[in-house]
Amino acid sequence: MDNEKLFGTSGIRGEINTEITTELALKIGKALGTYLKNKGKVVVGYDTRTTNQMLDQAISAGLMESGIDVLKIGMVPTPLVGYATEKLNVNAGIMITASHNPSKDNGIKLWNSNGMAYTSSQEEEIEEIYNKSSFKIVPWDNVGSLKKINEIKKDYIQELVDLVNINPGLKVVIDTASGAGSELSPIIFRKAGCKVITLNSQPDGFFPGRDPEPNKANLDSLMKTVKSTGADLGIAHDGDADRMITVDENGVVSPFDSLLVLIAESFGGTVVTTVDAGMTLDEALEKVGGTVLRTKVGDVNVAELILKENASFGGEPSGTWLHPDFSMCPDGILSGLRIAEIVSNKGKLSKLLENIPRYPNIREKIPCSKEDKIKIMKNIEPLLKNKFNDIKDVNNTDGIRLTFNDNSWVLIRPSGTENYIRITLESKEKIKANKICATCKDIIINNI
Ligand code: MG
Repeated sequence: MDNEKLFGTSGIRGEINTEITTELALKIGKALGTYLKNKGKVVVGYDTRTTNQMLDQAISAGLMESGIDVLKIGMVPTPLVGYATEKLNVNAGIMITASHNPSKDNGIKLWNSNGMAYTSSQEEEIEEIYNKSSFKIVPWDNVGSLKKINEIKKDYIQELVDLVNINPGLKVVIDTASGAGSELSPIIFRKAGCKVITLNSQPDGFFPGRDPEPNKANLDSLMKTVKSTGADLGIAHDGDADRMITVDENGVVSPFDSLLVLIAESFGGTVVTTVDAGMTLDEALEKVGGTVLRTKVGDVNVAELILKENASFGGEPSGTWLHPDFSMCPDGILSGLRIAEIVSNKGKLSKLLENIPRYPNIREKIPCSKEDKIKIMKNIEPLLKNKFNDIKDVNNTDGIRLTFNDNSWVLIRPSGTENYIRITLESKEKIKANKICATCKDIIINNI
C-alpha cells in the first residue's frame, strides 16, 4: 500500500499479507498514539476474521509503545466500538474489520471520543504521520498499559433493549453471517422480547454459511427460513453488524429505499441522507412535517451533517443508519430493533412497505477515462442547465444532482474506484425517466 492512499471510503481495507500486514497495524498504532500526543486511552475491538487477533496484538503494541493505554473489548460488532469509545470516555476507538469484504481481507477503522468515525481530514493527518514515519514513542517507564474490558457489552445490551418497545413474542429470524453480530445481536433481540431463530450465528472468519454482504443473492436461507417458520421478520447483518437489511413475513427482501423511508418517517424532523437516495423519502417526510438533507455518500459524511444540523436520524440507502439518540456510529442491531418495533406496533412489514410508492428508476454507467471524468464533471453544470428548463434545485455536494419541478431527479457522479461516470435517476413517469437518461448520456458522450 506504499504508493496508494491508505484510507479509503471506510477506513483502511485490503487483502491480508499483500495490503494489510502486522507491520501496517503496528505503525497505525504508533501513528494514532503520536496523533493523540502520547497520552490517553484507546478501545480496540475486532470482528470474526481469522486475522483479527494478529492485527489486534500489533496495533495494541504500537499504541502502548506510544504511551497509550489499551482497553481491549474483543470480538464485538463495530457499533459497540463507537459506543464504548464514548461511554468509557476514552480518546479514540479502533475496529479491526473489513465489513462485508471476503475472508482474506481485513481492515482498520478509527473512532472519535463522541462515537463518530474519523473524518477524512483526521485520516489524512494519521496518514501523514504514517508516511513520514514521524512516530513519537515514549521511554520504558511511560509505556501504555493493557486491560480487558467485558462489562461494556452488558451496558450496550441493556441500553439498546431499553430504547425500544416491542410487543413480546414477535418472531424474528436473525442471520449474522458468522460475523461480528453473531454473539450479541440474537441476545439483544431476545432480551427485547422477541422470539429469535438464528442463522449463521457461530462466529467464523471463513463465513461458511453465506457471504457477509447482505444482498438478495446471499440471503436464500434467510428468505426460506422466515417463510417456513412463519416468522414476522428476518434480519440480515453485514460482517461487522453496522448495517442490516430485512426480509418481510413472505420471505421477500425489502427494497433498501423503501425501508429507509419507513424508518425515517418514524423519526420525522430533520433527516440526513446521501445524494443517491430517492424522492419517496422527501415525499414521506413532507407529509410528517419533516425535512430531508443530502450529503456525500459515506457514513461519516452523514454523521457530520447530523451533528451540524442537529438531525433526528441519518441513513444511506445501503442500510447504514445512524441513530443520534443513541450513538454517532451506524448500528445494524439498533436498526433491526427499530424495524421490529415498527412491525410489532403497526403490522406486517410487507403491507407497510407496499404503502410506500416505488417509481421508475434507471442506473447507467458510461465508460470514461480518469482525465475525462475530471473534465466532464468540471463542465457539466452549464451543459445540463442548457438542456433542461425545469430544474428546481442543483446539489453539488457529491457529483451533481438535479431535482426537476415534478420532483424527478438525476445524479451524475464519477466512480471513485473505476473508470465510469454513473447516472442514477428517478421519475414518476417512465417516459420522462428515459428522456432524462438519454439527454444526460448525450451530454456526457458528446463531451468525452
Ligand atoms: Mg459494515
